This record gives sequence, structure tokens and C-alpha cells, in this order.
Amino acid sequence: MTVKTTHAPAPETTRWPSGLLRSARIAVINLLRPNVVIKYPHERYDQPERSRWAVEQVFGEDESVKCTACKICEQSCPDHCIKIDVETRPDKTKFIHSWGYDRAACMMCGLCVEACPYGAIHMGHDYELAHRETSEKHIDLLSEVAAAEIRKKEAPDA
Ligand code: SF4
Ligand code: SF4
Repeated sequence: MTVKTTHAPAPETTRWPSGLLRSARIAVINLLRPNVVIKYPHERYDQPERSRWAVEQVFGEDESVKCTACKICEQSCPDHCIKIDVETRPDKTKFIHSWGYDRAACMMCGLCVEACPYGAIHMGHDYELAHRETSEKHIDLLSEVAAAEIRKKEAPDA
């Protein structure tokens, strides 16, 4: 009497040498590849020129502030991360009390940088932005800066 079985036939054992050779080839290829892992934090990647992290102020060669407190960046931010507290004096000069930036809410879209007509801000390359205290997420990028006066000094014919 013959017994019928529904089990699948056993896999072919004669194929294992080709599989072994293929895996050995992959191992050799990976051994010859350049190492892309670095020993962070002892080593750090150079950020690409166009990488976007937190917003930073740009200063002139003489360390002067470029921001003129026009507030265009504040208006262009979709997340309302920027709050500039500025005082316009009777002589039309401006005094920036604070240039507030909510780094935790910033989605790093770069729209404020594109909107700034004076190139006064840019997207920084510092990616180590973690913080423990909630107070650290609100940053005053400038303090007590008479931006218009500085601009006036930079342009003597103004
Ligand atoms: S990068 Fe985008 S989200 Fe961040 S402050 Fe600028 S406009 Fe706002
Ligand atoms: S950073 Fe640029 S856009 Fe923003 S207030 Fe200053 S000058 Fe105006």
C-alpha cells in the first residue's frame, strides 16, 4: 500500500555553493568599501554648504550687526518662531530690544533667510541643538543692538 503525502519536496542541496559564493562576494565588497561610520562625538561630519539647522545671525567683517529690524523675517515665518521687539526713536533710528527665536518650534524651512533683504540671518550648520531645559528653546539672538545706528556708520553717505 502506497501512502500519498502533500509535503513539498526537500530543497535542492546542490545549490548551496553558489549561495555561499554570493554571500562571500558581498562580504568582500563591503570590506573594500570606505568606512562611513565616524566616532561621534570625537569626530564630526562636515556639514554640506546647503544644510539647514537653526537660524543664526550674520555679522559684518567688523562684527557689526546686519539686521535692521525691518521685521520681514518675522512676518514670513509660518510657525511664528521669530519675535522682534524693536523701538523706533524720534530720530527714526531703531533699537532692537530682543530678537527672539523659538528654536524648538522652528521647522528649519529657511523662508525667513530667503525673505531677509539684508542677508542678516542664515541657516547655521550646528546640528547639536538638543537641550535639557525648556528655557533654552527660546533664544535671544541679539540683545541691546542699535541696528540702524550701526547701518548708518557702515554707509557714511546715508
Ligand atoms: S526657518 Fe522657517 S520656521 Fe524657522 S524661523 Fe525661519 S521661517 Fe520660521
Ligand atoms: S533679520 Fe533680516 S528680515 Fe529679519 S528683521 Fe533683520 S534685516 Fe529684517
